[in-house]
Amino acid sequence: AHLARIDAVDEKVHAFLHVDREGAVAQARAVDAKRAAGERLGPLAGVPLALKDIFTTEGVPTTVGSKILEGWIPPYDATVTRRLKEAGIVILGKTNMDEFAMGSSTENSAFGPTGNPWDLTRIPGGSGGGSAASLASYQAPLAIGTDTGGSIRQPAAVTGTVGVKPTYGGVSRYGMVAFSSSLDQGGPCARTVLDAALLHEVIAGHDPLDSTSIDAPVPAVVEAARNGTVAGLRVGVVREFRGEGFQAGVLQRFDESVALLRELGADIVELSCPSFESALAAYYLIAPSECSSNLARFDAMRYGLRVGDDGTRSAEAVTSLTREAGFGPEVKRRIILGTYALSSGYYDAYYGSAQKARTLVSRDFQRSFEQVDVIVAPTTPSTAFPIGERADDPMAMYRADLCTIPVNLAGISAMSLPCGLAPEDGLPVGLQIVAPALADDRLYRVGAAVE
Ligand code: GLN
Repeated sequence: AHLARIDAVDEKVHAFLHVDREGAVAQARAVDAKRAAGERLGPLAGVPLALKDIFTTEGVPTTVGSKILEGWIPPYDATVTRRLKEAGIVILGKTNMDEFAMGSSTENSAFGPTGNPWDLTRIPGGSGGGSAASLASYQAPLAIGTDTGGSIRQPAAVTGTVGVKPTYGGVSRYGMVAFSSSLDQGGPCARTVLDAALLHEVIAGHDPLDSTSIDAPVPAVVEAARNGTVAGLRVGVVREFRGEGFQAGVLQRFDESVALLRELGADIVELSCPSFESALAAYYLIAPSECSSNLARFDAMRYGLRVGDDGTRSAEAVTSLTREAGFGPEVKRRIILGTYALSSGYYDAYYGSAQKARTLVSRDFQRSFEQVDVIVAPTTPSTAFPIGERADDPMAMYRADLCTIPVNLAGISAMSLPCGLAPEDGLPVGLQIVAPALADDRLYRVGAAVE
């Protein structure tokens, strides 16, 4: 049924870069056979899923939305891919994304944009726009995204779906193509809080193949999602997460959500986190710096594309021609920004200052979580904007992650879930819930209560 749905609508939506029909049918049959044999199966066995094209899949193309990896067939599965398969989940295919997960609209994909199912002329968010659009257009009931600065939560907000960025280190990064390793985190996307929780439990947990993977029990997120309640909970509202540049309808739905929380018995506490003002600037130094280092591996020798290798050119010339042809403009911009910020003479002024700002953001959260159990905020300052509107204005594009980025800098956990439609344009608005590291279960408890 889901493959038929993809056939019917994906020409318009363009959520998928690759549909793995054979693999999906084979996995579905294998699950059926196990069920027929009386094997005990997990709760998601046989359920289809759309996988962001940043996770390696053995024998199935993985492009990261980039020409530089076009034609590359990974010889191994990411840990997330492996866990999905072991749970009997049926991977329908790989979803569209901003090249190397750099973007907020999926317009930076080398393979063309994805449309927002609510209005195909608008962006589905990014970088995981394909995963979110696949859910909103009912092409898949579950999806996987990655969130370096908001790429799970922001697409969830603008497509009316649920997305969770787990605590950093909660989900293995092994086989997840690296953008900014100290920020990157895979996580579940779904249409309901409980579905997201079931998927969260499949993909989370310690992995010795990822040196930053946390060796601690996975928070009991499914139990939390089944017992939604906020009575007696202290819920923080941060002053810096609103104000200038926020769409009126987004703030209206957010204020209504806060009123609902109060009605359900939560204590609302006003907070101020002054360092959040530097979070966006710090992120756009740290993420490009790490990207400039991570993307050095795309040298035309090891993977994918190779341009100009006619036997007369040096390896250096081939690398340079391949990068010129294989990387898109946003990726080049980030590499240039990053190498500049890391270069001697500028390192302290840019990268060093950004790291200090990052510490201040973490401290603001720590201080806040002494007073509250969770923080709520709008996920994005506005609803889905028209495709093309911000394409020539990187700063306007970067602002889409104003409310999501502080969470990544601090390595803590957050969820976005729908909280209604903005009255002025009828488009979905996201409510963001933020919890401390390793307290991901609180996201689900609160999410399930207000869903
Ligand atoms: N939009 C942000 C960026 O472009 C975040 C992307 C992400 O989370 N992968 O870097």
